[in-house]
Amino acid sequence: MPEIRNCLRCKKLFMYTVGPKICENCKKLEEEEFERVRQFVKEFPGATIQEVSRETGVSTQLIYRFLKEGRLEVAEDSPIALLCENCGTRIRSGRFCVNCSKKLANELLNAGRSLQNSLSRKPGESKEAEGGLRYLHGIRKEEFKDK
Ligand SMILES: [Zn+2]
Ligand SMILES: [Zn+2]
Repeated sequence: MPEIRNCLRCKKLFMYTVGPKICENCKKLEEEEFERVRQFVKEFPGATIQEVSRETGVSTQLIYRFLKEGRLEVAEDSPIALLCENCGTRIRSGRFCVNCSKKLANELLNAGRSLQNSLSRKPGESKEAEGGLRYLHGIRKEEFKDK
């Protein structure tokens, strides 16, 4: 559903649908900035984030956002340090290292499974779900005893 919002960058009102909460004009500007940063990092893989920011005129926050969104990747030996949000290992792009990505994907998968088990249950009702599970185990034990 489109709604009227203030652009996060220029504060102008615009019709927001999906994606980052910025207007079309700023989206275009950001694309240009992204391209500048990407080119610069490719050309000068040894540059620090301050140098990249100074030379491209793009704020360090935005450069970090590009990195965290996984759009921008820095060289293996780049001084631009991006750390895994889970374990703190140095990574080149995104928010998590390979190991944590795998682990989190698994957890997400498991969470998805238990979500399927308790379909429309809200988080506050999870205790009830545990109780139900114990109840099921109880029944299983009873059946086992009978045999
Ligand atoms: Zn804007
Ligand atoms: Zn990690």
